[in-house]
Amino acid sequence: MAKKVSSKEICSFCGRPGDEAGLLIAGFSGHICDSCVEQAYQIVREEVKANTGGVTHGDVPKPKEIKAFLDEYVIGQDEAKKILAVAVYNHYKRIGQPSSKKFKDVEIEKSNIILVGETGTGKTLLARTIAKILKVPFAIVDATVLTEAGYVGEDVESILSKLLQAADYDVKATERGIIFIDELDKIARKSDNPSITRDVSGEGVQQALLKLLEGTDVNVPPQGGRKHPEQKMVKINTRDILFIAGGAFNGIERHIGSRLKTNMLGYGAKKEKDHIDQANLLQYIAPADLKKFGLIPEIIGRLPILTYLNPLDRDALRRILTEPKNAITKQFMKLFDMDGVELVFTDEAIDHIVDKAIEFKIGARGLRSIIEAIMTEAMFEGPSSTEKSMITIDKQYAIDMLASHVISKHKVA
Ligand code: ADP
Repeated sequence: MAKKVSSKEICSFCGRPGDEAGLLIAGFSGHICDSCVEQAYQIVREEVKANTGGVTHGDVPKPKEIKAFLDEYVIGQDEAKKILAVAVYNHYKRIGQPSSKKFKDVEIEKSNIILVGETGTGKTLLARTIAKILKVPFAIVDATVLTEAGYVGEDVESILSKLLQAADYDVKATERGIIFIDELDKIARKSDNPSITRDVSGEGVQQALLKLLEGTDVNVPPQGGRKHPEQKMVKINTRDILFIAGGAFNGIERHIGSRLKTNMLGYGAKKEKDHIDQANLLQYIAPADLKKFGLIPEIIGRLPILTYLNPLDRDALRRILTEPKNAITKQFMKLFDMDGVELVFTDEAIDHIVDKAIEFKIGARGLRSIIEAIMTEAMFEGPSSTEKSMITIDKQYAIDMLASHVISKHKVA
């Protein structure tokens, strides 16, 4: 096949003589030099990139790299991070990689993901951060606004309008994007008997979602909203869109608990009763529990990767305040720094903020409201003050500011 040839030959692409080129490779009816090979390779890569919406297999970070990136933004949730990292890696590998001859008949199926965990534990943050690493379009949609076609609410297709908008109307990029469907638990079947009433925002929506999750061509109204006859539609294929669904599934512990109990009594039961962590039953979640909760089996089948998020304890809340790359305290420090003021939070002040978040039962989502309430006065006075170059927020200051803000459970929700 191709080999280095004598210096008398020239490159058939750029015309460079062999003695000027580092390497000249002979083909069937001509030659190519090393720099033309490199250029051609770049062209091929760009072309593949354009056709795959910006993601090629070579570009996809390895699961460990994805996890390390997630660690920079999301505290804890190691199990969910690992499972997500592997699922996302496989998903983009499936899209980007030309299959080898050996497995050319094997089609790798899409693996959409479902994250179960209390509200404010980082489900959306995880999905958003994944999209950030991969530089793919990302959209968040709320399942509660969806209804079956023809009813008040939004058609299921509007999910894709959002992604199309996030992709700046680039259809190819849209078809490789990630959609986070929030509050999937809210479209659970309302009653065990599906025939009693029409369940337009429950089972009906689940049925409509199925097609999108499976992968199909969908005519999407580019501006969202309801489809109407005069509107020009854009065709989007959902085959390679990764869907990540999230939900709190309040009360699902009951189903998990009773399933575990039943298994415990069965013949195959492991003698592990004492090891079951009753305080965090979500870690044992299985597809059967989702079915009991009211998801139809077909939807569960289309969301084959199931994982959970842990509730956030005091330590996690504390770390969330200070550690992530864009931790809330760091954001305020940056704001003050722009005015030449160094902002310092004492450890006791941080503890107090965490205590309040726990007391108000508002978790991580409420940390920001509490800090905002504490910082309002300093942010109002700070920029006009000439002498201060350092502001320390200590516990007493935090207590005083929260008191003057009449911060209450209702205000910081
Ligand atoms: P969920 O989707 O589970 O309801 P979010 O991901 O929207 O919750 O979390 C709400 C906010 O709380 C996030 O924007 C983030 O600031 C913070 N947060 C929640 N969980 C974490 C976490 N594990 N690590 C870092 N920040 C978190």
